Amino acid sequence: MTITLAEVIGGFISGSMALISDATHNFSDVLSLIISYVANRLTRRKATTTHTYGFKRSEILAAFINSTTLIVLAIFILVEGIQRFFATETINAQWVIWMAVGSILVNGLSVLFIRKDAKGNMNIRSSLLHLFSDMMTSVAVLLGGLTIKYFQWYWVDALFSVLIALYLLYSSWGILKSSLKIIMQFTPDGLEVDEMTNVISKISGIKNIHHLHIWQIDEHELMLEAHVDMEKDVAISEFEKVLNEIKQAVDRYNIHHVNIQPEFSVDDNKQIIYK
Ligand SMILES: [Zn+2]
Repeated sequence: MTITLAEVIGGFISGSMALISDATHNFSDVLSLIISYVANRLTRRKATTTHTYGFKRSEILAAFINSTTLIVLAIFILVEGIQRFFATETINAQWVIWMAVGSILVNGLSVLFIRKDAKGNMNIRSSLLHLFSDMMTSVAVLLGGLTIKYFQWYWVDALFSVLIALYLLYSSWGILKSSLKIIMQFTPDGLEVDEMTNVISKISGIKNIHHLHIWQIDEHELMLEAHVDMEKDVAISEFEKVLNEIKQAVDRYNIHHVNIQPEFSVDDNKQIIYK
């Protein structure tokens, strides 16, 4: 947080866009850490009568907020960086160099500090990678500062800020897409609905399956609900056997929460996807 503030102030004083974009990156890291932490705490809360799913989606929402913020910031840096190519401003290289050195030191120390915990913990390993990439952007900013100091190539600063912005866009786009898919309740990636409903409709006793929904609560939990037409007007205990077969059939699609409405003479829309 201190580096971020220092870098922003340093960026404005020195006129270096690369320094400001590096600061933006660091700032969004801090913000995302806080949001992720809060979301992680929320997800662990138990479900209640007023929150029947608990807070299971908070981490998805956090990922969505984080990636959107980052994309907005990246676009701002990109536009500003491109404008700098045409209207060169003088940059105080001394400031850029010292700020970048400070940022490298802090990120580098953090890498050393958490490295010992990284073994066997994916979460920590990914933060380690992230810190390392932060350090590399600061190295780029430092190189930019040195070129400006010794060669007066002011365009280098614009170039680095554009590159950092593109990197930010690239890394947040994927997260934005996958979190949005879950929020919009789209069919989970790689799930072949036609293939799965084929398997279900072949179970003996079942005439057809219709009005189907498959969605994700969070990264791990998949839900399915559907209507199932039975060939005969069977007893509930008979239907329960069929239900168990359905559960087994969808288990290999990683769906463990199934809600089926049995029907015999209901006259409703019999399309698999209700339009
Ligand atoms: Zn129906």
